[in-house]
Amino acid sequence: MSEQQAPFVPSATPPTWLGVMGGGQLGRMFVHAAQAMGFKVAVLEPARDCPAGHAADYLLTASYTDPVALNQLSGLCAAVTTEFENVPAQSLAQLAAHGFVAPAAASVSIAQDRIAEKRFFTECAATSHVLPAPHLVIQNDAEVDAIADELLPGILKTARLGYDGKGQVRVRTREEARAAFHEMQGVTCVLEKMLPLAYEVSVLAARGADGESAVYPIAENVHRDGILFSTTVPGPNVSEECARRAQQAALAIIGRMEYVGVLCIEFFVLQDGSLVVNEMAPRPHNSGHYTIDACVTSQFAQQARAMAQLPLGDVRQHSPAVMLNILGDVWFEPGSDTPREPAWDKVLALHGANLHLYGKDDPRRGRKMGHVTFVAPALEQAQESFAAACRILGIPGSAD
Ligand code: ATP
Ligand code: MG
Repeated sequence: MSEQQAPFVPSATPPTWLGVMGGGQLGRMFVHAAQAMGFKVAVLEPARDCPAGHAADYLLTASYTDPVALNQLSGLCAAVTTEFENVPAQSLAQLAAHGFVAPAAASVSIAQDRIAEKRFFTECAATSHVLPAPHLVIQNDAEVDAIADELLPGILKTARLGYDGKGQVRVRTREEARAAFHEMQGVTCVLEKMLPLAYEVSVLAARGADGESAVYPIAENVHRDGILFSTTVPGPNVSEECARRAQQAALAIIGRMEYVGVLCIEFFVLQDGSLVVNEMAPRPHNSGHYTIDACVTSQFAQQARAMAQLPLGDVRQHSPAVMLNILGDVWFEPGSDTPREPAWDKVLALHGANLHLYGKDDPRRGRKMGHVTFVAPALEQAQESFAAACRILGIPGSAD
């Protein structure tokens, strides 16, 4: 349990600094939220040109394990958080020796390893009432041979460092599993049974240093090619019963970890209505971006509050919302490599549109460049704007 200290209130002289490990778009949106509350923000990130660095009050360009930079960050900042899930847990532990770090290294390291994560979810099942997908740890060929028929077809996932569907291969047979395992160059993997998904949801929860927790409305997510495509809240498929179960599970999980900060948990809802816990991210999450425009307290403002040991903010959603992820693909003419500038003027003319671009100047296919959240008094209106934006940007399909 983190020690309860006096809160780090925003102050101008001397300024109160918050620190963030990682300079991506999550860090950038955190910087914006923390600065709006009156904090100054320092970012530690290896790349000089990074989305959070453009917004930060101070950018430390260094590796995540650089002891001098870590000392500088903890010396400057009242508290440090992370936006990058794969930041070495050892670095967070080093920072924690000199100041407050939220979430703690122990929580981050569970989320960094699918095996530890699944073990932890299983331990939580007595109170969370959800289990992970049936799975098997694969470390060698003998374990591939031991794959039970019930686990096939399945998905072979690297235990560490996967994101946006990277480090995953769908396999139908043991032979395919063996080939895929060798492709991954023998790193430890988990084979998960391929489940019949009805839809996917995520729950954003937050827990303060005082042990109070809060859970945001459940989000329904659509993925394309392993990357989040859209988030709709309230989810058109989500029943009240499903929402209640997922929220209760998230609270049980965040409480058991004695976590401090914002945590996102992804769930699968199966065709028979049962709920399966997939994975968690120890930070604000792409599926929580809707909170910026549709909730009283955004996930980023919530993270700033939690790490500064201030009271958590109201998680109430004031407007139905649909979030569309903007990938680098929209900077190209559909079906060609001819570059173009997306028609943001037309997108911004749509009812309830809120455009967020992350300041990345190198659009590549599949790269997250920004998002647009449509809010409206009724979900149907937000969905209409969403569909119109997809047409304008040349993105096929709709949110469901
Ligand atoms: P991210 O970090 O972007 O959320 P990831 O690369 O860590 O993604 P997962 O969340 O494990 O990977 O999987 C990506 C997507 O693949 C899921 O959202 C889901 O659509 C599909 N998927 C993953 N595991 C299963 C499964 N066991 N059965 C069916 N579909 C699955
Ligand atoms: Mg995922």
